[in-house]
Amino acid sequence: MSKTFNIAVFSGDGIGPEITPPCLEILNLACEKAGGINLVFEDLPAGAALYRDTGESFPESSQKAAKEADAILLSCMGLPAVRYPDGTEVSPQIDLRMQLGLYAGVRPVRLVPGLKLPLASEKAKDIDLVLIRESTEGLFASHGKGTVENDSIAKDTMVITRDVSERLFDFAFKLATHRKKNGSEGRVTCVDKANVFQSLAFFRKVFDEQAKLNPEIIADHSYVDAMALNLVRHPWAFDVMVTENMFGDILSDLGAALMGGMGMAPSADIGDNHAVFQPCHGSAPDIVGEGKANPTAMFLSAAMMLDWLAQTHDIDACSTAAQYIRDAVDSAFAPGDLIPFELGGNAGTEAITQAIIKQLK
Ligand code: ATP
Repeated sequence: MSKTFNIAVFSGDGIGPEITPPCLEILNLACEKAGGINLVFEDLPAGAALYRDTGESFPESSQKAAKEADAILLSCMGLPAVRYPDGTEVSPQIDLRMQLGLYAGVRPVRLVPGLKLPLASEKAKDIDLVLIRESTEGLFASHGKGTVENDSIAKDTMVITRDVSERLFDFAFKLATHRKKNGSEGRVTCVDKANVFQSLAFFRKVFDEQAKLNPEIIADHSYVDAMALNLVRHPWAFDVMVTENMFGDILSDLGAALMGGMGMAPSADIGDNHAVFQPCHGSAPDIVGEGKANPTAMFLSAAMMLDWLAQTHDIDACSTAAQYIRDAVDSAFAPGDLIPFELGGNAGTEAITQAIIKQLK
């Protein structure tokens, strides 16, 4: 008997509506090929364009449907020209992280073969790390709550809680343990600025406590500035990294660059009961309507969704379907002649989708 999963889909803003339909097609093909799973998609309205047109960015009905779904697939939201009265961008994806307690932002940095990459070293092909970005507090706890007093002083506050940090580090050590079984080093690096900020010294203290509970995994630390340097110098040396929300926001773009561009970088935001899967990139308004958007990051995010469904429901067919997507992406790019626009080539949404579908079939 086939297992049905209800997937809440936000096609969002900018290039979102261009990359979402191909992603659903790829998901359907992979699930059909794996057999035994059936995905039912519900397209839900939210985002900056909706706010511009209706004054509402994240309708109650969409929030409810997302909460009830088995998983949430999101493309990208936000448009630079559409802002709330306080000047901040419309970003329901950040609201979702807070509302559903999606504390573990998982940002894998794994290279797809065949692409010309920014790092010249031969070792660059061995890059395979996962950055875990705390996604509900840190500096983003101030989202919508910052203050400007008398047009002379502005304040945003960093918040680190023991409860979320413990669950975050537990997630990171479990992931490192899982990866170690598949040949990774078994290391978690805490990225912070514990030498300057009380909040991040506390973050490190809780990390060290969790490290003691996981003696089979190597635990070490790096200041975020040193990590920016080392992620360019020798990114192949890292396994799992865990960091505060704002630092993770910045380092995950660096990770995307290592992979060749925003269009290659998948992500997941995972909590105890819910998860959202979306590419690392934003709505890329500069290329909307040109057919140049690279949909690969969204396809790889969809594969992460299938892996998470496999783990949480103990259904092997889901991880088989996830692997079909990753293999199809790798085989499509491996010959080296499928070069996305963002990497200086001329392969757009349609060409990349068709090349990957061909491999899937
Ligand atoms: P946000 O703040 O919403 O995350 P951002 O400032 O990171 O957005 P993006 O929208 O991610 O900006 O775009 C950054 C650059 O990367 C832009 O030049 C954009 O065209 C490019 N880009 C982003 N996503 C893709 C994609 N899927 N395919 C091709 N180019 C992309």
